[in-house]
Amino acid sequence: MDWLKKAFISLTLVILIGGFGNLSVAASNLKESEHQDQMVRQSQSVDASRQKPTEAKNQGLSKDYHGHKSNRPETKNPKKKAPAANNRFIPIQLLGINDLHGQLNVTRNVNGKPAGRVDYLAAYLKQREAENKNTLLIQNGDMVGASPPVSALLQDEPTIEILNKLGFDIGTVGNHEFDEGVMELLRLIKGGSHPKTGKFAGSNFPWIVANVIDEKTGKTILPPYQVIKVNGMPIGFIGVVTTETPTVVIPSGVAGLKFTDEVEAINRNVAELKKQGVKSIIVLAHNPGTSGPNGENPTGQLVDIANRVDDEVDIIFGGHNHAHMNATINNKLVVQSYSYGTAFSDVDIEIDPKTKEIVSKSAEIVTTFQEGMKPDPEIKQMIEGYEAKVEPIVNRVIGSTAESLTAKQNENGESVLGSFIADAQRNALKTEFAFMNPGGIRADIDPGEITWGEVYTVQPFNNDLVKMTMTGQQIRDLLKQQWSPTKTNMLQISGLTYSWDANKPIGQRIVSIKLPDGTEIDPNKSYTVTANIFLSGGGDGFTVFTQAQNKEVGPNDLDALVNFISAQPKPFTYRIQNRIQKVQ
Ligand SMILES: [Zn+2]
Repeated sequence: MDWLKKAFISLTLVILIGGFGNLSVAASNLKESEHQDQMVRQSQSVDASRQKPTEAKNQGLSKDYHGHKSNRPETKNPKKKAPAANNRFIPIQLLGINDLHGQLNVTRNVNGKPAGRVDYLAAYLKQREAENKNTLLIQNGDMVGASPPVSALLQDEPTIEILNKLGFDIGTVGNHEFDEGVMELLRLIKGGSHPKTGKFAGSNFPWIVANVIDEKTGKTILPPYQVIKVNGMPIGFIGVVTTETPTVVIPSGVAGLKFTDEVEAINRNVAELKKQGVKSIIVLAHNPGTSGPNGENPTGQLVDIANRVDDEVDIIFGGHNHAHMNATINNKLVVQSYSYGTAFSDVDIEIDPKTKEIVSKSAEIVTTFQEGMKPDPEIKQMIEGYEAKVEPIVNRVIGSTAESLTAKQNENGESVLGSFIADAQRNALKTEFAFMNPGGIRADIDPGEITWGEVYTVQPFNNDLVKMTMTGQQIRDLLKQQWSPTKTNMLQISGLTYSWDANKPIGQRIVSIKLPDGTEIDPNKSYTVTANIFLSGGGDGFTVFTQAQNKEVGPNDLDALVNFISAQPKPFTYRIQNRIQKVQ
């Protein structure tokens, strides 16, 4: 029973954070300059509007349905000192983070206490580094993408600059590193110019990935592995990212790339490292996995990877589902440390200098509670610099709501914010219906004044909206795709209502679909539909969208939502619409 419950919780989390919509590549220079103009206009109008205090409110970010684990078992006894069995062994400390998502200035609640912000994370990392001069800092993907304005409006360069400043040693890519396409990913790593931000120096530590192949050259887009010598001991790192990446990133983000089997890629490179005499091997896998606080009940792709990789692999760092993992599987230590800078993994190893093998390993997953810790002053100052740059845009008040708009779904599968966003999108493209993926709603809107920055945090992907036509039958088929044996993913809707029966088998759950006038939808008639470009491309497994006709790209989702809010009375009231009904 307990196991089932845990499996359900971890599964739910996977659903929530899989299938985000994603940033679209700025299509042309023209579009880029329009955006620049818009930014200027927004800065000019800022004086006229009332500003909110710079201290951002938490804005309902600390919720499980936004991919944040707010309730955590707290580690009572921190990591055991590595057994000092033999003092010729070399103790090495590995400090890892995953799924930061550029949350430089975002505080979240964990067990009712504030946690996170990278200046606090930095203070923790520096404190641990001081305990062992042989320390490596590791990032495990999704450092950028789906990030707040402080990072996103500056092309996520601030996040890279902070990782540079902290002295990160090695990293891999997550699915979100592909949000703006491989060219932008390589620019962030290697440096280069962007029309919005100008020249950027790039990342000053190596990024590796062994299973992402450029279809043109047949080679990996980044080096597959990297050997780092610590105190003379060679440690081999191999990077991989989940092969699900193409299903959770917009097609243009992964065009021309092939994502190959993780285990096959790891083992090929383990063989290569072995040839070079490297015996200590660590895999950086942006793949999901979860375990209980003491390593019990490990689940997820990481378990499968740990069971199938070469025995020379010692440790696997994971990511992607924002969960806790600290388990030993098939003699491999497998760790993941939640998300958003609210935790990190501290892995202690010892290497035998004679054999160059890792002879002991243990890990602690540490939550970065702010209580009792002083933020790192240098990083704090950097954050304040970035905040000042984006402040005129972020603090502009665009409307006000009397009640909170949350993405939390009721038992029917409908949320207030989901319906509201679907309404905004339908309104923007003047269609009969709109459908919105819940994974693309990244925060709630609190009662009171609504700033541009808050809306950005809700819809950080800048996904273009697509107008299309679909038949009544296609809409029925689309709604059926909300259920699969492994997940439930309730689209948020506008312009129609429907009922569904949870007792019916998957594929037969839709009972009736009604138009606003109360009549049934006509399976043979064509209707106009709005969805974002991620869904339009069949994202989240909603493949029926790929059969839609007459596709036309319109404004992006953020502008649609900002305009819709601006057009409401101040304050406005919006409550659950009862568009989705579960029949008993
Ligand atoms: Zn991910």
